[in-house]
Amino acid sequence: MQLTLLGGASEVGSLSGFLEDGGIRLLFDCGLTPSKPPKYPMKPPAVDLAFLSHAHIDHSGMIPWLCATFGVDVVATPPTNIVGTMLLEDSVKVSSLEGFPAPYDKSDVKVLKKHLQNAAFGDILDAGGIDICLHPAGHIPGAAMFEVRASKDLLFTGDINTLDSHLVNGAKPVKCDVLVIESTYSGRDHPPRSETERHFLNKTKEVVERGGLAIVPAFAVGRTQEMMLTLMNSGLDIVLDGMGWAVNRHFMSMPEYLRSSQRLSDAMAQIKVIRNPGDRKTLAKTAQVVITTSGMVDGGPVLEFISDRRNDKNSAVLLTGYQVEGTNGRMLMESGELVLGGAPAKIQCELGFYDFSAHADHNELIKFVKACAPEEVVLCHGDNRIVLANDLREDGFKVHMPKEGQKIEFLP
Ligand SMILES: [Zn+2]
Repeated sequence: MQLTLLGGASEVGSLSGFLEDGGIRLLFDCGLTPSKPPKYPMKPPAVDLAFLSHAHIDHSGMIPWLCATFGVDVVATPPTNIVGTMLLEDSVKVSSLEGFPAPYDKSDVKVLKKHLQNAAFGDILDAGGIDICLHPAGHIPGAAMFEVRASKDLLFTGDINTLDSHLVNGAKPVKCDVLVIESTYSGRDHPPRSETERHFLNKTKEVVERGGLAIVPAFAVGRTQEMMLTLMNSGLDIVLDGMGWAVNRHFMSMPEYLRSSQRLSDAMAQIKVIRNPGDRKTLAKTAQVVITTSGMVDGGPVLEFISDRRNDKNSAVLLTGYQVEGTNGRMLMESGELVLGGAPAKIQCELGFYDFSAHADHNELIKFVKACAPEEVVLCHGDNRIVLANDLREDGFKVHMPKEGQKIEFLP
């Protein structure tokens, strides 16, 4: 069995893993890093079947290209297929807006739709004689880990969260010989979630009490719903703008992938939704909190809200997740400035950062690896893998940290 990470080995983004075993060729994820310009993985060879762990662009961004080029089928859970397609359609629009050439266009996303195959957690699929089983990865609704039962039993985690969030239950370990695991948070631990939530809610209330607007940038998929559930029953006047509402509706149609569809439905009932620019003008006047895209402040309605309030010291921008280098959100965190209308502008609003990550942290990753009890561990999707590798080696694990394009062989 041979594995080559074509992208997303030594960095968080553009993940793609190519696996060969007994003449069968499989691909796990084919992502794109949505930086400026975007980053792509190395091109894979033709494969027999592809698997998509979840809907985020850094795992799915090159899937339309893959289908259009090789005509290969792609297996994922229904939430990943539905919401992933929506994000890809949006990324085609964004990339044409920002002037970067996309490696595929609208027609490729149409082709992709014909190649998507649904599979549920617990299903065992046949890929040319190799059994592949899907397990829940936590992270976001529908996120899957793939267990390949071939000459070795290999588990590809995609992005995982081992703790329960409001939105989804955490991933459970799966015994395997080879564990290919993400390492986004290698070397870093999250503060306890309850503490983060308390600080976030207190700050939000403080902003509202002094007459400001709390602007909460959030990804449409996962983070928006988690923030809605966090703010539920706070008594605040909350509006939701951007793609999050469409994602909510899709998630609600697949309740088996949620921790509690009742709670999400209750949270949705407490929120007003901005559906057009007219709504934005009227609802924004009375709103106390706005949850909106994009999560890294690189586009979407969030820019309009911040632009309107940029000189208002009573208002606040409360970031809820990791801000990738080169994004507006990162610039805001580091310099208090934001590119608005093509030029950097000073933002007078209060700035806050809250770690609502949906990734397992350093300690949780170690616990997970130990419980999976693999002979070999492959670390990927991390820009600081060495810290996790050192800790795992101390615990006696054989750890690989391949570069992009480097082949690893697992002997039977
Ligand atoms: Zn993800």
